[in-house]
Amino acid sequence: MLNRAVRDGPVEVLVVGAGPSGLFAAAELARHGVITRIVEREPRPHRQARATVIQPGTLEILVRAETLDPFLARSIHLDYARVFNDQLEVVGEIAFAGAGCPCEFQCSLPQYRTEEILTDRLTELGGKVERGVSASSMDTTADDVVVNLEHVDGSEETAHVQWVIGAGGAHSITRESLDETLLGETYPGTALAADVRVSCGLPRDGTALIASPEGYILLGPLPDDRWITFIGDLHPDEAERLNQDASVEAVAASIERRAGDRVRLEDIAWASPFHMHRRLVSRLAGERRFLLGDAGHLSSPFGGEGLNSGLQDAHNLAWKLALVLQGRGRPVLLDSFASERLSADAHVLEVSDHIHQMAHGAVQAARTGVRPDPPTPEQVAAVVQSRSMLDVSYAGSPLVGEYVAPDADLPPGPGPGERYPDRAGLSGTGHHVLFFGDADEEALDRLQDRWDGLLEVVRSNGDPAHGGVRDGGAVLVRPDGHIGFRASSADAAGLSALDSHLESYLIPA
Ligand SMILES: Cc1cc2nc3c(=O)[nH]c(=O)nc-3n(C[C@H](O)[C@H](O)[C@H](O)COP(=O)(O)OP(=O)(O)OC[C@H]3O[C@@H](n4cnc5c(N)ncnc54)[C@H](O)[C@@H]3O)c2cc1C
Repeated sequence: MLNRAVRDGPVEVLVVGAGPSGLFAAAELARHGVITRIVEREPRPHRQARATVIQPGTLEILVRAETLDPFLARSIHLDYARVFNDQLEVVGEIAFAGAGCPCEFQCSLPQYRTEEILTDRLTELGGKVERGVSASSMDTTADDVVVNLEHVDGSEETAHVQWVIGAGGAHSITRESLDETLLGETYPGTALAADVRVSCGLPRDGTALIASPEGYILLGPLPDDRWITFIGDLHPDEAERLNQDASVEAVAASIERRAGDRVRLEDIAWASPFHMHRRLVSRLAGERRFLLGDAGHLSSPFGGEGLNSGLQDAHNLAWKLALVLQGRGRPVLLDSFASERLSADAHVLEVSDHIHQMAHGAVQAARTGVRPDPPTPEQVAAVVQSRSMLDVSYAGSPLVGEYVAPDADLPPGPGPGERYPDRAGLSGTGHHVLFFGDADEEALDRLQDRWDGLLEVVRSNGDPAHGGVRDGGAVLVRPDGHIGFRASSADAAGLSALDSHLESYLIPA
């Protein structure tokens, strides 16, 4: 066995795993000025379609991360999610139009394309994935984390790093090293996921769930005239057969069983039987290690949120870790990653479970002929918000707060911790203080000086209610686009409260 020389210079952050979560964490840290080391066990990129949907809420984050355009250009835009019966007649539909965000659609593209785009972005920002390098163990010392790395050529290396970002997926070594397990349940039954070309009359502007008494077929359009499909509620003998032989003939037989000859399979680029889970760790960080994506949580793919929540974990962590490494953030800032994302990821599991149950309810309705009452417009609007991942909230986090002057009140609208709806219009890597109408200009200047390099004070012509204040108020928007603090008045008292809030987790210039 060879022993590698220790790499030149200290490494502050090691990212384990170059799936979507690890790649986005490394790219976001690079955008915030921190170059990480990122290692990936597989010597070559895969070509599996897997997670194909990027949700409107994530697209907003990609605007903030300055990498939306390649996603828009290389994906199919999905405006609807529909349910069909086995005659391919529409029995239910939701539209993303009116969701209240810049991209009121889902982007659909194979996961390997998402990974290509994120790898290109990382390269553009000066980072590089080291392929064929696997983390095999890690231990914390008083000063750092010692990680054993096995290279594909058989050599081994001991790396000393300040922080480890564990993004190794469902079988994460980082999670194992923290003695954490993915707690929860595995849904009954097996499904088959495949990247296919089919001939069918389904519209290509949305996903289609075909609910038949024999089970379901989910079809989502992909670029190049392809589709991602999940075939589920497999009979045990059918599951056994597909497990051994996911050939065109075998998969076509399962499709025919559910939709007759209305969906005709032409080819398969990739297929894999899989189980669905609803699982979450009890802590997402500890001992200088963080867990992102599937390393920390698994949700039903019916929600289409697994990959998205991994990207959102990465987005939440990057700015915090960068500020701490740059000497501008206090430890509480890093602690907030685990608490904020644990509750957001628990919400993802709930939403995905709800959609999972709705899909299985549609199959049940096809079997019994008993249809549930149609949802009310309010229920549809709530489903659109949650499916779009626009309802992510960090309310209750120690990193959010508010000041309400005596006799003042705040309008209905997003509160501290919620997403600032106009966040896509804010650029850069720092915080923003937005003030609306009259303000104490001297106090604003003092604020700008004290937090130089960390925030930008902006007079906003937008709607103050979007920040949960009235005219004359001020809103602190965090680098991830969530409302960090709101003050009913941008006067000396309101801005002093905002300043104290910043001081609770940041270090002044
Ligand atoms: C059939 C199917 C359909 C899905 N559909 C959707 C969907 O529509 N929308 C959605 O959002 N999600 C969906 N998901 C979930 C989605 O695929 C995952 O949530 C996503 O891939 C998680 O990304 P990740 O980066 O956290 O982990 P992974 O994609 O698993 O990446 C982990 C990476 O780490 C590497 N690695 C592991 N261990 C080590 C180690 N010790 N050292 C170095 N490298 C290591 C692995 O090789 C891998 O490249 C689906 C999943 C499946 C199975």
